[in-house]
Amino acid sequence: MKKISIYRPTSIDEAIQILSRHGKEAGVYAGGTDLLIRLKSRLQQAPSYLVDIKKIDNLRYIKEDAQGGVQIGAATKIAEIANSDLLKRKYPMLVEAVNMISSPELRNASTLGGDLLQEVWCQYLRGGYSCWRNGGYICYGAIGDNSYYHSAMGGRLCYAVYPGDAATALIPFDARVKLATPAGVKELSIEQLVPGDMMVDGRIQSHVVRYNEILTEVVIPPPKPGVRASFEKLRPRGVWDFAMASLAMSLQLRDQTIDDARVVFGGIAGKPLRETAVEDFLKGKTLSSDLSDHEVQRDQDRHG
Ligand SMILES: Cc1cc2nc3c(=O)[nH]c(=O)nc-3n(C[C@H](O)[C@H](O)[C@H](O)COP(=O)(O)OP(=O)(O)OC[C@H]3O[C@@H](n4cnc5c(N)ncnc54)[C@H](O)[C@@H]3O)c2cc1C
Ligand code: SF4
Repeated sequence: MKKISIYRPTSIDEAIQILSRHGKEAGVYAGGTDLLIRLKSRLQQAPSYLVDIKKIDNLRYIKEDAQGGVQIGAATKIAEIANSDLLKRKYPMLVEAVNMISSPELRNASTLGGDLLQEVWCQYLRGGYSCWRNGGYICYGAIGDNSYYHSAMGGRLCYAVYPGDAATALIPFDARVKLATPAGVKELSIEQLVPGDMMVDGRIQSHVVRYNEILTEVVIPPPKPGVRASFEKLRPRGVWDFAMASLAMSLQLRDQTIDDARVVFGGIAGKPLRETAVEDFLKGKTLSSDLSDHEVQRDQDRHG
């Protein structure tokens, strides 16, 4: 493991100052379930200066806001989200999804911010190969065995899938995040946060968070009336694994008519993949058990 130094700031401002001072050599350290594995595997891209955010007050909470939405601090444990009565009542699909993340032990250690911003789990990167994400100029996933954790939908430079279940499940609720930056607070949608492999500060990552920015909060708007949502996840070994494919879906119903829809796939692309064409197709339709068969047949008839 490379030589590392750990800072334990007690405020966001102090943490940002330390991150800014060390530049790309520094990284936020939350639960460590991704970061420490990268360090142990001696990945060149892993930071040498860890900024532990666990001592910072006010990053670990789940609370209802005045509008009836919910705010979740970025350092809140995945297990706390999985066990939250407030979230079970307001967004049961989110709770269902986070209960499928990793194992009970890991959910006790890992945080929401870390799940959203985790590194990809491509075996070449994790094995220390010098690929695009690890300081090199080649993608081994594009030319070698890519049966696990690689994108079915192509990529730009990197072909690894974005692995986070929380992001996939948060998009149907139109959740947003807050980032603390040296220039003040920045707000983004989840889709803007994880747009897929991007060059940020000279390195490839799935998210847009810069080296001296800290994710502080996830904000979920109040549940919309008539919304029904579900999360499905296919895993290679059935338990404790990343999604081979997942689907987070919400339908806003007025009687049986679909007023609005969100359809988001996980585990198949370098980002949570929102299918707006399917959403548009569903809007205005009447919900019935033969909706899909009926519409597939109509589509086939239309195209001969
Ligand atoms: C065996 C195993 C199975 C897993 N299965 C799943 C699964 O099924 N589904 C799934 O979604 N995930 C899965 N994971 C990933 C796991 O959920 C993540 O490792 C975990 O959520 C990361 O959270 P952490 O707090 O430990 O982050 P850390 O390891 O501390 O950090 C992860 C990354 O995020 C950055 N970071 C963390 N917090 C912040 C912040 N607030 N601001 C800015 N940057 C930040 C860090 O700098 C680092 O780059 C699995 C992991 C393992 C080891
Ligand atoms: S898929 Fe991405 S992480 Fe894997 S070898 Fe290619 S560039 Fe590296």
